[in-house]
This record gives sequence, structure tokens and C-alpha cells, in this order.
Amino acid sequence: MKPTLKWLNKEVAYMAAPVNTGFLIKNEKAVIVDTGLDKDHAKKILRLLESEGIRPVAIINTHSHADHCGGNAQLQKQLQLPVIAPVLEKPFMENPYLESLALFGGAHPPAALQNKFLQAKPSTVQEVFTTEQGSVVVDGFTIHLIPLPGHSMQQTGIFYEGILFSADVLLGKAYLDKHLIPFNADVNRHRSSLEMMREVSFDLCVPAHGEPMEQAMDLINRNVEALDFIDNWLLDHTHDASTIDQLLSSFCHEQQVGLDTISQYHLYRTAFAAHLSAMSEINKVKHMVEEACFKWQRVE
Ligand SMILES: [Zn+2]
Repeated sequence: MKPTLKWLNKEVAYMAAPVNTGFLIKNEKAVIVDTGLDKDHAKKILRLLESEGIRPVAIINTHSHADHCGGNAQLQKQLQLPVIAPVLEKPFMENPYLESLALFGGAHPPAALQNKFLQAKPSTVQEVFTTEQGSVVVDGFTIHLIPLPGHSMQQTGIFYEGILFSADVLLGKAYLDKHLIPFNADVNRHRSSLEMMREVSFDLCVPAHGEPMEQAMDLINRNVEALDFIDNWLLDHTHDASTIDQLLSSFCHEQQVGLDTISQYHLYRTAFAAHLSAMSEINKVKHMVEEACFKWQRVE
């Protein structure tokens, strides 16, 4: 299907796709917000901008996951576009092997865990930002930065002319109903980001996966509910000390969550580890090594 430019206001548009790409546009120039999974997505972006007579001048990435920066390499190869990204996400974008390495607990990951859904083609980040600085100026565009960490260590929302590109801080209801285990690296910080989302006043919020929305409260509540569901389930199932593998296996069995690939296993396992680690920060669970197993138990 031929991609179309969907305008959100006079200066902001997006290309709808499994991973949306945003465009900040003025004087026939565009800053691209996230580039999709791969070179095919990048080529679609280029064709679309070309057909509208708009010249891309830079890429700004919300975070380093492959489906958000996977098109960077192609755009840099064809147009030498500068890439701007959060400071902690840069090493992962320049060395995507680190994503798989992190997911495999720091050990060299087997080949099956080094696929394009986990490792983007490497791109070079010319400029980094921290969200403390509040905004960044890119080719005359003043872009406001909304800190939304937790899903990844330094995920950042891109705010321009009343439109918020919120990356993966909010997942859709259908996704949450089906998968039950949203991927997060730091659940307490992700919870703070969801609270932050309640405070941001925007005309439209564009999640990476899904339709633009005028208000996000219902979806924020649904996303908080998804986190609470896992926390409560884990507390209910750790009266006796258990390993993450035991917990994940019973959860998937009880809740009928399909888990049959090495990628899915490590994504879910990492998310479970993030929930347990977050609950240990607030003394709801404790960890121990017993009979050479690393276990978690609720604090009674
Ligand atoms: Zn992501």
C-alpha cells in the first residue's frame, strides 16, 4: 500500500505503520521522529517525503529498540542525515549487539537471539541529549523532550507544536489484552513515566504503535493496570521462594500466554526480572540464593 502523509496540524505529520514515523515540518524541511524496523521502512519514508517535496534534514530517535531506529542506517547511507538520540540510548544504536548481550544477561548470545527484531543495523549518533535539558534545537526546530524512561533506560517523548510522539510508554489495549507482559527494563521508572503522561498537556498524542489520541487517561489507566496485574500475580506466587523461570512458566501456563521462541522468552523473562527488582526496591519482595538457584520471595 502506498504510504500517505497524515497531517496532525500545520507543522506535524506522521506516516502510519506498525511503527509510526513522525515528521516535524517547516519550510519544506523535515525532522524524522523514529525510522521503523529496517531499510524497507526507511525507503517508504523517503518516497513519501519526496512525493510531498519535503527534504529530510535530521533524525531524532525516542529510544534504541530496533523497531524505532532500524531505518537509520539506510537514511544515513543515502542522505548522510545526522541522528540525535538520548545519551544512554546511543551506545545501543551504535553497537546493536549490546541489545542482545543485555537480554542474554551479559553473555555472548546465541545466534537465534541476534535477529533484526532485536538488533537494528548500526547507525552513528552525531548528537546526544539528556531530558534535563528540556529541549534540543535541530536545524532551526526547537523540540521539547519529555522524559519517559522505564520501557528503555532513557526513552524520550518528542513534543513539538502541541503533538507528543510518546514512543512505547503507552501500549494499546488490544496488545495488553493479548500479551499480558509489556516489556519494561525499569518498572518503577516506567510507573513514574505513566504518571508524567497524566501531566503533559497535548493536542494529540501519537503512540509508536496505534492511532493518535486526544486524551490518554483511559489508556494510561489500562497500562498501570497491566503492571499491577503482574505485580499482584508475582506477590501471590512468591509465598515460597521461586526462580524467575518457575514464575514465568506458571504465569504463562495459568494465563495461557504463548511463549515458544528464544526472543519471546528473554523479553518476558527480562520484564519479570524488572518487576521483581522494582518490588525489591520498595521492600515487597526479597531475593536469595538457595541450593545454587537465584530466588525471589515476597516479604510477609
Ligand atoms: Zn521499544
